[in-house]
Amino acid sequence: MTGRAAVTVESEAETARVAGELAAALRPGAVVLLHGDLGAGKTAFVRGMAPSLGVDPDEVSSPTFALVQPYAGASVTLFHVDLYRIGGGEVEELGLDDFAADGVLVVEWAERWPRPPASAIHVRIEDLGGDRRRIVIEHP
Ligand code: ADP
Ligand code: MG
Repeated sequence: MTGRAAVTVESEAETARVAGELAAALRPGAVVLLHGDLGAGKTAFVRGMAPSLGVDPDEVSSPTFALVQPYAGASVTLFHVDLYRIGGGEVEELGLDDFAADGVLVVEWAERWPRPPASAIHVRIEDLGGDRRRIVIEHP
């Protein structure tokens, strides 16, 4: 699948539905790069992806201390990464590409990853006020 889809949602539940639809279409090895300000809903989006991958959404929290949080799913592992607190240059040392090989990799603050895979899916979330969010999904 290639292209760009944009949707405006009115609630966190709707964000979860959009995220779940995306997750259901992912293959092992997929990389999803999340962009958006603090509080935009990146972690909420990951939580929404979880059920489609056989992961309990309650397991998904902001990986503040552990940089990479693995959640065992039905057939793949969901690797959840948050680069918010990482220093420049350190991202390369994480070896994120290797995680991607073993499951589905989802990255918050993905713009801090200097050279993400060209095949990665980009998700941009913009807070439009209240519970309203604009979500743009780009498949290369
Ligand atoms: P981020 O990870 O981008 O910093 P979070 O997912 O941690 O953001 O927080 C998003 C906050 O916005 C949560 O408190 C969530 O309940 C709230 N929220 C309200 N409406 C939405 C929506 N439509 N989609 C996602 N989150 C929403
Ligand atoms: Mg977050």
